[in-house]
Amino acid sequence: MEREIVNKVAIVGGTHGNEYTGIYLLEKYHEYPHLLQPKTFEVEYLLANPEAFKQNRRYLDRDLNRSFRLADIKDPLLVGYENARAKEINDQVGPKGDARVDMIIDLHTSTAPMGVNLVLTKTDTFHLMLVDYVQQRMDDVTVTLEQQEDHHFLMTVADRHVLVEVGPVPQGQLKHEVFEKTEQAVQLIAEFIEHYNQHSLPQPSESIDIYEYFGVMYLPTDPLGNICGMVHKNIQDRDFQTLQSGEPIFHLFNGEDECYEGENCTISFINEAAYYDEKKAFSMSKRRTFHIG
Ligand SMILES: [Zn+2]
Repeated sequence: MEREIVNKVAIVGGTHGNEYTGIYLLEKYHEYPHLLQPKTFEVEYLLANPEAFKQNRRYLDRDLNRSFRLADIKDPLLVGYENARAKEINDQVGPKGDARVDMIIDLHTSTAPMGVNLVLTKTDTFHLMLVDYVQQRMDDVTVTLEQQEDHHFLMTVADRHVLVEVGPVPQGQLKHEVFEKTEQAVQLIAEFIEHYNQHSLPQPSESIDIYEYFGVMYLPTDPLGNICGMVHKNIQDRDFQTLQSGEPIFHLFNGEDECYEGENCTISFINEAAYYDEKKAFSMSKRRTFHIG
């Protein structure tokens, strides 16, 4: 494992302006700083998309969490609000590739019953041990992996990062249970970093199962591109369960069902409200086992 200590951690909320849990958890930490006062590293808080928060929207011009490719940050022709924010955030906690902060924890919510979903973009020992540490100490934790070249996620500005996505909670709402789980996950991540910095980490599990995304299913549309059906009740709320070939996934307005044809896979973000802007119905992943250490 890399030996550098984690000195500075940015906890980010409101990357999506209508995901209130992270935003108000930051408020809580501001007001009661003793709740998170690690000994071995500094914490700073960042409200990523204040304008979208003010308007109770996910974003104004484009999804901020899809705006952090190096190519985009450097592109002077991209001038929307989120592109400007991406540049500011990159100046503030980055620059990406040589960031001032050592780690970013980005707090999100889902309208789907995802439980506590930890999202990684890499699977080195540090990150595997981190998610294993949380999963061993908390119920209902799943880990997913979304790898890509020059990643578009905000958190990838720092080399080390994890996204905490908790659901179900509607957009623009605080829900006690979801808030509590998010807070608990943040506390466990902070605890892990303390142990890591002090070389006092307990023995990790031998391996961990991670869901790796490979695709997205789009809602059914007519030739004009209008939605012409909905997610089938057969798969509603079946997040992180297996979808088998032949199962109904959509119920069309004409009364017919549409069935899944393809390899069996794990589905999540099923009927996620935030995904209607792109007409996405659910995400598809494959479970892989990673050896730790
Ligand atoms: Zn989000």
